[in-house]
Amino acid sequence: MKPFMQFQRLFGASKLVCNSRNIVPVGLCRGQWRRICTCTTHNQEAHHCSTPVLKHLTSKIRSTGPISVAEYMREVLTNPVSGYYVHNDMLGAEGDFITSPEISQIFGELLGIWCVSEWMAAGKPKEFQLVEFGPGRGSLASDVLGVLKQLKSVVGESAVSVHLVEVSPKLSEVQAQSLTGEDSKAADNENDPVYRRGTTKTGHPVYWYRGMEDVPRGFSIYLAHEFFDALPIHKFQKTDKGWREILIDIDPQVANKLCFVLAPSATLASSTLLQADEEREHVEVCPEGGVLVQRLTNRISEDGGAALIADYGHAGDKTDTFRGFRGHKLHDVLVAPGTADLTADVDFRYLRRMTEERVLSFGPITQQQFLRNMGIDVRLQVLLRSCTDSSTRKQLVQGFDMMMNPEKMGERFKFFALVPHSRIAVQTRGKKAEQKGGAAPPVSGFSELGL
Ligand code: SAH
Repeated sequence: MKPFMQFQRLFGASKLVCNSRNIVPVGLCRGQWRRICTCTTHNQEAHHCSTPVLKHLTSKIRSTGPISVAEYMREVLTNPVSGYYVHNDMLGAEGDFITSPEISQIFGELLGIWCVSEWMAAGKPKEFQLVEFGPGRGSLASDVLGVLKQLKSVVGESAVSVHLVEVSPKLSEVQAQSLTGEDSKAADNENDPVYRRGTTKTGHPVYWYRGMEDVPRGFSIYLAHEFFDALPIHKFQKTDKGWREILIDIDPQVANKLCFVLAPSATLASSTLLQADEEREHVEVCPEGGVLVQRLTNRISEDGGAALIADYGHAGDKTDTFRGFRGHKLHDVLVAPGTADLTADVDFRYLRRMTEERVLSFGPITQQQFLRNMGIDVRLQVLLRSCTDSSTRKQLVQGFDMMMNPEKMGERFKFFALVPHSRIAVQTRGKKAEQKGGAAPPVSGFSELGL
């Protein structure tokens, strides 16, 4: 039986709150894109737009030479003074891009059910840490907590706490407002690893951290939605002389203009990050994503728990996916840095490789498949039946289409999960039980084992 069905009675329409969301009917989510020109010569005027990040980077390049794409991405997105994420609320209709949790409450509700079903499969541990990486406006965490509230009779016996890993002070305030109202406080000491803490509207303690290393150990369900794509990538090109890293330099011809160049010889990154069996001619590697998966692997295998990573991405077959977004439009990555989002598709094959099979991995499967397996069709019908307001009904249907339509987010977005090997033991026991007429408990949303 689909997990959603199991919870249907408890999570029924009787206590339904139908949240209205601001859908952007026209516009792009970051998963939608076309091939763009990265030569940066097609829009001369735009290059004269200097920004604080551009000034900082050009002086750095002048003193120490061309920088890697990873360093460029890190500075542009998370530089503490002028980084794009640090001072912006870029999500939603007024921002630069739209994400599934912002489009529809159903998305967060189904992920909430995934969290509960993994907690149940682990034997209902007494402590339950919900950890989210890059929570944006806090909508996903809020919808997940809504599910925990609805399923209080199931989850109530466990002490739930919420742990948010967020680099942006601006977004952490938006998250605090959404999750706690006024019930949160910034740390007095700026070196405190917990830089904000509070109590959610659902009565759970909530903490904010800058990095995963500060999140306490213990049984945890980890969620990362559109987070890995924002982590810095290195780019490499195969040449006659072997692999060369693509770097960013100042264009000698045009003031305030950056350009891509090929490193003349091997760099530390090109000699350490590429796989010996690589068949592509152009490759993007995200070592920070790899390290994060290694940390998740350690924690999940030692403390128990599960991770659900959802992002646009591929299984190790795509090449040049680095792109920018501003005002729901594609934006040249080298123009006016700090004013637009930068992103690259997640290489799930690489992430799986980083687990070294010390945990069990599932997927990547498409968003359409995952949400369908989680019971999105039933949930939509339940919400529509209990909703009389025509504009909210329209939003629900539009949101469903945006998330599920293969031409929109349905196929480009993928779901990937990590669970401990003890789940195999459960599966094996289940298989034996199956032979005796029992059933194996599958990982919700994933129909097949993807080792
Ligand atoms: N998950 C949200 C937001 C996605 S945008 C959603 O789907 O709506 C990316 C989020 O990750 C933002 O909250 C951004 O501030 C955060 N972020 C980006 N890079 C980060 C980093 N290196 N460390 C922590 N948070 C980061």
